[in-house]
Amino acid sequence: MKITYIHHSSFLVEGSDFYLLFDYFQGKLPKLSEQKTLYVFASHRHGDHFSKVIFELEKVHPNISYILSSDIKPKQVPAESLPRTTFLGKNMVDKIGDIVVETYHSTDEGVAFLVSAGGKNIYHAGDLNDWTWIGEPDDWNAKMRRVYRKIVDGLKDKKIDAAFLPLDGRQEGEFYQGMDYFLRTVADVKAVFPMHFWEDYTVIRQIKEMKESESYRSKIYDIAYEGQEFLIV
Ligand SMILES: [Zn+2]
Repeated sequence: MKITYIHHSSFLVEGSDFYLLFDYFQGKLPKLSEQKTLYVFASHRHGDHFSKVIFELEKVHPNISYILSSDIKPKQVPAESLPRTTFLGKNMVDKIGDIVVETYHSTDEGVAFLVSAGGKNIYHAGDLNDWTWIGEPDDWNAKMRRVYRKIVDGLKDKKIDAAFLPLDGRQEGEFYQGMDYFLRTVADVKAVFPMHFWEDYTVIRQIKEMKESESYRSKIYDIAYEGQEFLIV
């Protein structure tokens, strides 16, 4: 399975007969094979995760299906794209074409996706993260952490071949908490791709150098530029 880093939280996952494109709003996409079905996901409506540009893709790639979080409303979807669109709220399971999509609640807007495709399980967090911030009231941060951890606990027995997880340097000293808890809790994760780092690739090096990451740092892929490709087995 080939994974291409596109931009911010957007990745393209390529299997033998499908593509999964997550949270695309800008960036260069590789040329796609017309034979393969393109499944386009948007985890929530924010501009760094969803853009109407995704509906342009069907002009060059008609074999397409959209899976959108239900905080994106049908009126945001062109009429001609609606028949190819599935809206999913939290805690749903749906078979769409040849793939199965499960959704989880987010600590931000929308959902996180767990996708079963081509015999692999792919997790895309969207903005599900431990969004604790230095300077926020302690009780606000404590509630955030509690809610995040409860959702992640619901994933702990899943086998995940590739996980896309936020790692956001704007959180300063708290930046690693969401990824750290996820990887300590969900033991069977093979490959981890940081995202939502606002082009500050140094956060990847930072978490890997922390003593807290010792048990899982070897799973984290070093993304260095947009368009970079990774093969996972
Ligand atoms: Zn975001």
